[in-house]
Amino acid sequence: MKIKGRPLRLLVSEEEIANRIKGLAKEIQDYFGEPFLVVGLLKGAFVFTADLIRAFDIPVQVDFMWVSSYGSMQESQGHVKVVKDLDRDIEGLRVLLVDDILDTGYTLAEVYRLLELKGAREIKTCVLLDKKERRKVNFNADFVGFEVPNLFLVGYGLDWDEEGRNLRGIYAVE
Ligand code: 5GP
Ligand code: MG
Repeated sequence: MKIKGRPLRLLVSEEEIANRIKGLAKEIQDYFGEPFLVVGLLKGAFVFTADLIRAFDIPVQVDFMWVSSYGSMQESQGHVKVVKDLDRDIEGLRVLLVDDILDTGYTLAEVYRLLELKGAREIKTCVLLDKKERRKVNFNADFVGFEVPNLFLVGYGLDWDEEGRNLRGIYAVE
């Protein structure tokens, strides 16, 4: 398989993702123990969020925020712009913040701060993928699907210039 003429190498298969999501969902709902609000980050986390919420068997509500980092294309630089904010007030709510991948940590750390300012009672974070070695701020997710090496990844919601989001597995661009 190729994107923009570059070969892709499968890193995490569709089956591995599905199995890990079952385990993650159980950990998360055991932790919350009651209905909570899921906040997914657009666009990258829309596929993961869709599968994760369907693995819960307690009621959850779902909202999305769309934030974009300005600066270079492939690395965020510590500033995020809110393109689309939450639809609702989250004051006093317990929230699970979901993103596709934790890289430098700037995005999630900043959105975490925004949710705190909005008055969330509790915020836990969940990412499908974690590039731990790339971290530039001291921020870790509470629930992590897979630790991955420092490669550029596409698929399962992650894009390269808007391509590749529809791939069912996670691939490294070679
Ligand atoms: P951070 O602020 O942690 O550096 O960046 C997180 C965001 O950068 C992710 O939500 C994702 O949009 C993007 N990102 C980081 N690494 C990758 C990658 O390997 N592939 C893709 N497609 N996006 C990435
Ligand atoms: Mg993203």
